[in-house]
Amino acid sequence: MELTVSAFKVPTDAPESDGTFEWDATTLVVVEADGGLGWTYAPAAAGVLVGELLAPAVDDPDDIPACWAAMLAAVRNAGPWGLAMYAISAVDIALWDRKARRLGVSLAGLLGQRRETVDVYGSGGFCSYSDERLREQLGGWVVQGIPRVKMKVGRGGDERRVAVAREAIGDAELMVDANGAWELANAARMADVFARFDVRWFEEPVSSDDPGDLRRLRGRVPGMAIAAGEYATSPFAFRALLGSVDVLQADVTRCGGITGFMQADALCFAHGTPLSAHCAPALAVHPMAAAQQGRHIEWFHDHVRIESTLFDGALEPVDGALRPDPSRPGHGMTLRRTKADRFRTSPSVL
Ligand SMILES: [Mg+2]
Repeated sequence: MELTVSAFKVPTDAPESDGTFEWDATTLVVVEADGGLGWTYAPAAAGVLVGELLAPAVDDPDDIPACWAAMLAAVRNAGPWGLAMYAISAVDIALWDRKARRLGVSLAGLLGQRRETVDVYGSGGFCSYSDERLREQLGGWVVQGIPRVKMKVGRGGDERRVAVAREAIGDAELMVDANGAWELANAARMADVFARFDVRWFEEPVSSDDPGDLRRLRGRVPGMAIAAGEYATSPFAFRALLGSVDVLQADVTRCGGITGFMQADALCFAHGTPLSAHCAPALAVHPMAAAQQGRHIEWFHDHVRIESTLFDGALEPVDGALRPDPSRPGHGMTLRRTKADRFRTSPSVL
């Protein structure tokens, strides 16, 4: 099937860092499939995989399960999970969007919508921010009506930074994300520090590659949820984390698209574990509205900026929640081509 692939590199509004990474731009790969639109936050190389391996594998776009299986088979020798799954995610989302548009229903409706709104939490609070910027961003979300906010930790000065955040947000829920920055002993020590500021969510306190260490931290501080899953790109990786986390995270643009995300939800259902959507809020709202175990969506600063800039129809939260519009077929977004062209990247390989 003919798939149109583009890659865009969008600079951040300030240097950003978390516990283990620093960046000043975000690249996304956009796939258009006969009126359907999907994307993944991935290097442009994912777009090469789409053109070279996935497009020839997609035969009947109405039969999404067959397309998904064929795409997975096509990347076997390229490493079936990881970046190849990011590429599959973009195509899968485009195929689901196409199908919903042709049926004249919203994507959430096509998937079987369980809830009208999905809660979001504000997410940013980068380690690179000044205390003033941290205060302004986190406090701003609370003022906007979002009663849950998450900040990055793991690069030093966290006790002071978390105190600044707590003061800025009053009684709102405070969440932290270490992006796997600590070994078990330090993570446990920091959990005690964070507990003094009533932190309710500790994401990737240790590397997610070791579910055993995540499990050892669980329950250490009552009321503080251990969360992970953003790098999982297969049902097997989700299965390995379940039992070691209080909340599983899944990224619709990484884990196999809508198809992979709903698989993650089924696994969560079987384990009695809540599911939280990682990043890409404008896309995640649809499968989350349909997910059995859906809890909330990450209203991630970078992606909010990108999605509202590049796509018409990206939703805005009201009272801390997103509401899929049943009158807009598919996910309801279109690419703003002229605007997006300013950020186009790697034309030579796509
Ligand atoms: Mg994270």
